[in-house]
Order: sequence, then structure tokens, then C-alpha cells
Amino acid sequence: MRFLVTGGAGFIGSHVADALVGGDHEVVILDDLSTGSRENIEHLLQDGQVELVVGSVLEEDLVEECMRSVDACFHLAAVVGVRLVIEQTLDSIRSNALGADTVFTLAARHGKRLLFASSSEVYGQGDGRPLTEGAHRAVGYRMHARWAYASSKMYGEALAQSCVRELGSEMVVARLFNVVGPRQTGTYGMVLPRFVSQALAGADLTVYGDGRQSRCFLHVDDAVQALLALGGANRAIGNVYNVGSPDPVRIVDLARLVIER
Ligand code: NAD
Repeated sequence: MRFLVTGGAGFIGSHVADALVGGDHEVVILDDLSTGSRENIEHLLQDGQVELVVGSVLEEDLVEECMRSVDACFHLAAVVGVRLVIEQTLDSIRSNALGADTVFTLAARHGKRLLFASSSEVYGQGDGRPLTEGAHRAVGYRMHARWAYASSKMYGEALAQSCVRELGSEMVVARLFNVVGPRQTGTYGMVLPRFVSQALAGADLTVYGDGRQSRCFLHVDDAVQALLALGGANRAIGNVYNVGSPDPVRIVDLARLVIER
């Protein structure tokens, strides 16, 4: 098969492309190289199984051209990372919400299956107690720019589910939880690569708050396996899945672990 991977030059997207090529599929990557890089996929561009189209998911004609040429799409292009979202809120909203709109509309129009990479951020800021699937969404203080990311992902989820219900499109939503691994950069606020580079430089590790907040980290290879399985499963269509690890770690313990290693 031939797949469109938007954001395929990024951290997770480049691993999705790796796995698809490993499964003998062809891949078209559409990426504006804002946070992704050619370096992430250089090894894939040599043998002709992967084509890189440099451009934005906001460019309707370009997306349409890419969409027409493939069987299915993994939509991962987004402005990601708390620091980036706060610094470029307008860009984030445009790329994430309007980008999803463009890509989903064209996938629906051309009858292509689509998997949307959403985020655990859509759960918002809880009150410290575990959330259930049915819990009301508690987005943090609405004036804080970081919640623009959660809102744009929520918009994408609602859009994908509406395309399924009203247009009969084949779309699946996967909410990723703290994916980590090779090619992830700490530049935009991701904690593990930032800890690793601080530790390697012999610097102190920056822990926000008291460090007792916990997160579950998932290796990118496991995340990619889940994304490919969900993208290929008929019974996943129209549903939303959490993709993450069940093992929480306190951030201060993660910092200690990185220093130890
Ligand atoms: P990333 O920044 O490495 O990847 C995003 C890619 O999208 C980059 O290559 C970037 O250049 C590209 N991009 C951004 N705006 C674009 C635009 N307008 N047009 C075309 N390309 C554009 O981040 P990532 O961690 O690989 O995230 C991939 C996806 O997974 C994103 O949708 C993100 O929201 C989602 N996600 C990631 C995590 C995580 O833990 N990394 C968690 C939850 C959700």
C-alpha cells in the first residue's frame, strides 16, 4: 500500500515511516520541516520507497495532490511542545485545527482511511484524582496559551468523529501519552531528552514544581506498533484510543534515573 504520513519528518512520524517501509509499503511524507528534519528520514529517501513533499498541511492543493496518490493517511503534522505552543499560539491553532480540517476534508472527499494522532492533553488538568474515560473534560485556565494545543486536538477529534458519523469516512483517533525515544528533541519542552542533554553536559536537571507530578512514558517503537495496528483495524473506525504506558513515574524519580544512567 501507499501511505501519506503528514509530519513524517518529525520524531514519531519518521518512526511510522520506518515501520511502513519495513512492511514493504510506499510512503509520501508531507512536512513543512518546522520541527521535523530531513536528517530524521535521510536513510529512507535513498531507495525510492519514500517521497518527501516539503509543504504545509494548510496548503489545500498540495494536500489534495498527496491524498489522491495514496491509499490511507496517518495525520501527525502539528505544532507540538509546550514551549512552542506558548511562543507561537496562532501558528499552533492554525496548523493543528485548520490543518486537521484540510487533511480530514480531503481524506473524506477521496475516501481514504485516516488515523489522527491526538494527545492525552485533551483530558486537561485534573484535580489530582485519577480521571475516568467518562469524566468531564477539565481544560486548564482558559487564558493560558498552552491549552490552545488541547483545544486544537479536541477539535480534530470531534471533526474526525463527525466525518465518520455523517460522511461514513474511515477515521480513527489515537491519543498518545508521552512518547519517548530516538530523534525526540528537548528543544520545545519535552522532559526526557531535556534531562538527558542536561545530564550529558554535567548540568543540573531542571525539575518544575516539587517533581512529585507523575507521567507514563511510552517507547516510540511501541507507540508505532499501536498506531499501525489501529490504522489497519476495521473495528477501530470511529473510536478513540488511549496509547500509552500503564507505569507512572514521578518526574523527580525520572531525573534521578537519568543521572544514574
Ligand atoms: P514533532 O514536532 O517531531 O512532529 C511534528 C511534525 O509536524 C514535524 O515534523 C513538523 O515539522 C511537522 N509540522 C508542523 N506543522 C506542520 C504543518 N503546518 N504542515 C506540515 N507539517 C507540519 O512531534 P512528535 O512528537 O513527533 O508529534 C507527532 C504527533 O503526535 C503530533 O500530532 C503530536 O500532537 C502527537 N503527540 C505526540 C506526543 C509525544 O509524546 N511526542 C504526545 C501526544 C501527541
